[in-house]
Amino acid sequence: MNLHEYQAKELLAKFGVAVPEGMVAFTPDEAVEVAKKLRDSTGRKSWVVKAQIHAGGRGKGGGVKLANSLDEVVEHASRIIGMQLITPQTGPEGKKVRKVLLSEDIYYPGNSATEEIYMSVLLNRQSGRNMIMYSPDGGMDIEKVAEESPERIFTEEVDPGIGLQPFQCRKIAFNLGLSGKAFKSMVKFAGALYNAYTGTDASLIEINPVVKTSDDKIYAADAKIVIDNNGLIRHPEIMAMRDLDEEDPMEVEASKFDLSYIRLSGNVGCMVNGAGLAMATMDIIKLSGGEPANFLDVGGSADSKRVEEAFRIILKDPNVKAILVNIFGGIVRCDSVAQGIVDAYRNIGEVSVPIIVRLQGTNAEEGKKLIDDAGLKVYSAIQLKEAAELVTQVI
Ligand code: GDP
Ligand code: MN
Repeated sequence: MNLHEYQAKELLAKFGVAVPEGMVAFTPDEAVEVAKKLRDSTGRKSWVVKAQIHAGGRGKGGGVKLANSLDEVVEHASRIIGMQLITPQTGPEGKKVRKVLLSEDIYYPGNSATEEIYMSVLLNRQSGRNMIMYSPDGGMDIEKVAEESPERIFTEEVDPGIGLQPFQCRKIAFNLGLSGKAFKSMVKFAGALYNAYTGTDASLIEINPVVKTSDDKIYAADAKIVIDNNGLIRHPEIMAMRDLDEEDPMEVEASKFDLSYIRLSGNVGCMVNGAGLAMATMDIIKLSGGEPANFLDVGGSADSKRVEEAFRIILKDPNVKAILVNIFGGIVRCDSVAQGIVDAYRNIGEVSVPIIVRLQGTNAEEGKKLIDDAGLKVYSAIQLKEAAELVTQVI
């Protein structure tokens, strides 16, 4: 699960990671209220107004603006809230901005000698260990640094048996070229960031930039956290941060019915039971020259109601030109799936796209009979290859 920057910073603060003061605002009026509060607590009269969407690269797209007066806070907040923000990570259609983070400006006047550092915590899948990845060249595209000057990117792996050691944090601060007070702050920062990573069951924490101010303070100026969905059950307070506005509406609908659905860009809708079979089905569709419109696993215990919902969701995608149903009846019974298809057909009304059904396993014969007796216009196939070829013939 992805979090917004303001939510990520809230969590980081709980683990002792230094973050700039700030609050979320849904309207320009709220933004001014927050700005006044920040002025009262920090004594500073400049702020940053930051679009809150689940994508990075906002600065480049005009979603991060510096305000030097309350009028400018209103001006930027009015323009950013409601805008369709296009960044290198949103795709060409962009993302609608519904709220902004209003934050104290930590690059305040007189603090010009700021340095931007990159730091992330993630799993190294090769070694199977968590690691801290960091670079003195933060602020810009880290991908570009990786390409052009990979020697400027450092990693520090953590032994799972003993956890992150203090000497490792000192090594990080040293490699970043810090000294004195900034060195000490960085040691604390790296340790706290790692604790936030393990403590929230995150799969990624990325801070770009970490800022060193000229008075030697270290702050997370930006924050991206991705939480491992399998760990969410342990963190109800993080689960409550889920923002459905940021997710694909069809995927949200599917999750209500416990369907594993991921929308893709092709034109063949698939309904399959079991993730492995779903992957194999998508492969064979591609091999036959088609493109899957989705991944959909109805699960092992699919009853006719769930099959019907799955059908509705697939049909909502206007790109779908044919549907391939591929069910292996192990625990799930083919007749119950067939009943779901029949019900969906009746309840939805006119289904305009051809449907190819392949039922195998428990009660496959009964399932096929149900569909035949209902007089539905579906093509039956026995072999998966045959089914996939049929699909590409009808689209
Ligand atoms: P991103 O573009 O989505 O990664 O958003 P960031 O939070 O990283 O902001 C983009 C850029 O805005 C950063 O690289 C900084 O240079 C700048 N920025 C971030 N926070 C501040 C701040 O407090 N003051 C000023 N003046 N600039 C900031
Ligand atoms: Mn950033």
